[in-house]
Amino acid sequence: MRRLAPLLPLAALLAFNACTPTTSDTSGSSSVDSSVASVAASEESADSASVTESSAESSSVAMVDFPHNAATQLVANSGSGYNDTSNWAPGICFPLAQTPDYANSQVYSPGGDHYPTASATNHGVQCDAANYSYPWKDNFCESRSQWNNPVCVAGTGHQGQDIRPTTCKKDTYWAVAAEDGVITQIGSYTVALTGNGSPHRIYRYLHMLKTSVHVAVGDHVVRGQKLGLVSNNLGVSNGVQQYTTIHLHFEVRIAQAETMSDGTQLTANAFVPPYTALVDAYQRKLAGDCPTVD
Ligand SMILES: [Zn+2]
Repeated sequence: MRRLAPLLPLAALLAFNACTPTTSDTSGSSSVDSSVASVAASEESADSASVTESSAESSSVAMVDFPHNAATQLVANSGSGYNDTSNWAPGICFPLAQTPDYANSQVYSPGGDHYPTASATNHGVQCDAANYSYPWKDNFCESRSQWNNPVCVAGTGHQGQDIRPTTCKKDTYWAVAAEDGVITQIGSYTVALTGNGSPHRIYRYLHMLKTSVHVAVGDHVVRGQKLGLVSNNLGVSNGVQQYTTIHLHFEVRIAQAETMSDGTQLTANAFVPPYTALVDAYQRKLAGDCPTVD
């Protein structure tokens, strides 16, 4: 399903981002998918000829692994993940322009209302270093009683994946298009993109700075194109601006009925777990896939 190019030498990868983790950083990952290729940090592949050869291969890209918990493995006491680890959006661009980024829970991590427990009075601060470190953590289906999500055990739950940008600084880091497509909806704190390629996945981006969103409904965008700046915008309620933590909430929805790996039938517009697709996209991003398009 996935084609892999010759692995890029680490020196070439570091040229993309000085913060790119090396393979030695993966020691903290307890559940890295063993089928995923890691880039060898060995000197033997670090010759200029291989860089040229790899760069010429536009149809495939190397991957860099990084510490990430398994799909469906939620933070303790934050609910049950949905038991489907399928890649529902193969080949997408990672939706943030700059790395590193940190997929994890907003509500059940420092600074969240339910950290460390629902009864705690001190919930910590969102800029805690723990929130800006690996490993990644899946938070699709984490307990959110106010959000319908039929595939979650409770029938409600988090509908996407939350991702913190490089640092705890709002209105600084760009969210980018996951796929070539059309902007199909813009709300007070949401932007939706429908992919051109079959099966026309719908990607929804939440919490960007409203004034930074420089696409409009009907605009055609290309993968990697800047959409807006990651912020903490939660829209306006009763005339008052509401805020969440600084993060991108990223969703993948299906445009037509499909079936989950356990046989569950999904109807059009259902949310599907984005974590596996995001891990794959980030591994490619760390290897230089999806350069940002202004
Ligand atoms: Zn979210």
